[in-house]
Amino acid sequence: MKNSKVDISIVIPVCNEEPTLDRCLKEVDAECKKLNRPYEIIFVDDGSKDKSLSILESFAKEYSYVKVITFSRNFGQNPALFAGFKYASGDAVINLDADLQDPAHLIGEYVAKWEEGYDVVLSKRRKRKGESFFKKFTSKLFYKVYNFLSKTNVPKDCGISRLLSRKVLNEILALREKNLYLAGLTDFVGYKYAVIEFDRDPRISGVTKYSVKRLIKLAITNILPFSTTPINFVTGTGVFLGVGGGTMLITLIVLSILSVCFSPILWIISTMLILSGIITVGIGIVGTYVAVTYKETLDRPRYIIANKYNLGDDDE
Ligand code: UDP
Ligand code: MG
Repeated sequence: MKNSKVDISIVIPVCNEEPTLDRCLKEVDAECKKLNRPYEIIFVDDGSKDKSLSILESFAKEYSYVKVITFSRNFGQNPALFAGFKYASGDAVINLDADLQDPAHLIGEYVAKWEEGYDVVLSKRRKRKGESFFKKFTSKLFYKVYNFLSKTNVPKDCGISRLLSRKVLNEILALREKNLYLAGLTDFVGYKYAVIEFDRDPRISGVTKYSVKRLIKLAITNILPFSTTPINFVTGTGVFLGVGGGTMLITLIVLSILSVCFSPILWIISTMLILSGIITVGIGIVGTYVAVTYKETLDRPRYIIANKYNLGDDDE
């Protein structure tokens, strides 16, 4: 079946969402029908190990406007979104989570703002029900640190769910970097955005796919490609310490020439400890940049597609 032109594409990444999928499709479909526009729903299975894949296959068999992309393994939520974006044919593309934490009724609100002429519509979480204090705290902290370091302005409390116009989407798809942090990239591309507000519900079923360890790793890899501030900070600190250390040394020499009673050993030891600490941190930060750069230079694909359903001639 050819991928026919639609107005609105909904992209939903899926990782082990067996208990949520039926309700997800039902609610998203109902909201899309209200738009009175041609639409498609693209599920991207990100290496699920439960029955998600067979459920998605049955959706695709039943409804031609439900399209499915499956990955060869788990590549992550953002790569899954990008795969969906690449195959989306809509004039506007909306991404939602399969657990409906970004409720389906946002679809109508997103489209209304798009019809007003906005190219990007973000959604701000007024309340976040069913999420731990730790998750909310780290999320707030992440946006603060991210905006401070990157000098960009990812609006705080806006989730990853958003509407992108075809114009913005094409710009994002043309970017070549491998680290796909959608909020940062949307901000980088620019254009005027609108923000709608909503109360974030708990998951309809299942558990979050983000452990604390995974969240921390994600925060680090997302900040670094958008900011060189940590490196500038290390350089600035180096200059400061060098000048400070030199001044101290000269003072010590002058004091010993004047034969004033002084114990330089303690000073040297503590200075060396501070310096070695700073140097180690510096090496760590630079090393992380090297690691990120290294990943980019490998030029590996962002994801590997195993199968596609209802998406063009090479359907499985
Ligand atoms: N997801 C994914 N790949 C992953 C992790 C998550 O495709 O490696 C999907 C997941 O199925 C859901 C969305 O991304 O549709 C958001 O995940 P989750 O609800 O676990 O994140 P949270 O809402 O807890 O931040
Ligand atoms: Mg969720």
